[in-house]
This record gives sequence, structure tokens and C-alpha cells, in this order.
Amino acid sequence: MTIPTKDQKKLWGLAAGRCSKPGCGEGCIRFLDEGGTTVIGEMAHIIAQQPDGPRGQPGGGEDSYENLILLCPTHHTEIDKAPEGIFSVEELKRWKWEHENRISRSFLSPVFDSKKEMGLKIKRLLIQNHRIWKNSGPESQEAASNPLSSHVEIWNLRKLDTIVPNNRKVINIINNNEYLIDVNDLDACYHFVEHAEGFERNCYKRTEGVLRFPVEFERVIDNYVQV
Ligand SMILES: [Zn+2]
Repeated sequence: MTIPTKDQKKLWGLAAGRCSKPGCGEGCIRFLDEGGTTVIGEMAHIIAQQPDGPRGQPGGGEDSYENLILLCPTHHTEIDKAPEGIFSVEELKRWKWEHENRISRSFLSPVFDSKKEMGLKIKRLLIQNHRIWKNSGPESQEAASNPLSSHVEIWNLRKLDTIVPNNRKVINIINNNEYLIDVNDLDACYHFVEHAEGFERNCYKRTEGVLRFPVEFERVIDNYVQV
């Protein structure tokens, strides 16, 4: 299977790394009891590559974003083993469309009444990102002790399914609630926005000079939480 990297990233990112079957939404990265993580998500073909495969058509289906849906192993097996016609091409496209829509709606930013409420929401997102960076990032213990392990793949996926979406949520919160931010704190907030935008660009195309996470932004948010 040779799905171009750009299609894999797009599918994983838009599905936020979760199974697309309605009601499932299982995370496609599993944390193992013995430590470490593994990818369990499967990029399933909506129209099989082989004409005689599940939902096959003459000429076969492409290895492209348009013809793929992200599923957990259970639901990938379920749709491919079911008798022809139970899960149609249209049905799977509907699952994918609805799932991606649910994810994108989660970016609509609320308008907050107070600095504290806004600060708490941002703080939660930053804590989640920080944990992932600490456990799977390039400076994590796992990366240092085993540079050839699968952590690079996991890190790349975690950036797409959690860190980048969380950063976008924070940017939306800043933009929609600017009136709550003190003038003196705006510089730190814009610094974060530049960092987050550079980080996201770097996920899709290697870019030089991405700003590191600005510590002063975290200080601003910590102050708001304590108001
Ligand atoms: Zn599932």
C-alpha cells in the first residue's frame, strides 16, 4: 500500500486520530501496559484497491485521501467482512464527512465572561500538549534512550491529532476573547500564535526557524487562572 504521506497526514489530522464510525470515536493510538505506545488506527479503503475486494469497482479504488477513511481495527474488519451492500460506499463517505464535521465544529470558540474562565480553558489545552511533548517529543526520555524506535512516528501523529488542533483552539480563544486580555499581555499571546502557526506549518513541510513555545505566554495564563 503506497498512500502518499500528504494524504495520510490529511486523513489523520482531519479525523483527529479517531475512528470515524458513528458512536465509536476510539483513539487510534494505544498506550501499552508495558510502557510505550502503538498505532492501532487503520486507513481503510472506501472502494477496495482490487475490483473484487470490499465495495470493489472496475479499475479499483485509489490510494488517496478521498478514498480513505480512518477506522479502529474492529470497525475496519466489520465493514470489510460484512456481506457486500451492508456498508455501501455512500454510507462510509457519510461517516467520514460527519466525523470530520464534528471535529471541525469543536474548534468554534466560546466567548468567556472572565479572564479566569478563559485562562482555565487554555490551561487545560496547554497541559495536554505539554504532557504529549514531554512523553513523546524529540526531547523525551523515550527519544533519547531509543532514537530508532517507533516514537518518531507516534510523535508525528500526536502532533497532528492533538497538539495542532489544541493550538488552533487556543488561537481561536485568543482571537475571540481579546477584550479580556490586558494590553501588556498581548505581545506574549501573539508570540504564542506565531509559535503555533510555525509549528503547524512544520508538521506538513519542514521549515526552518520555528519559534519555541513562549514561556511568558504560560505565565500570563497562570496569572489569569489565579485571578
Ligand atoms: Zn471504531
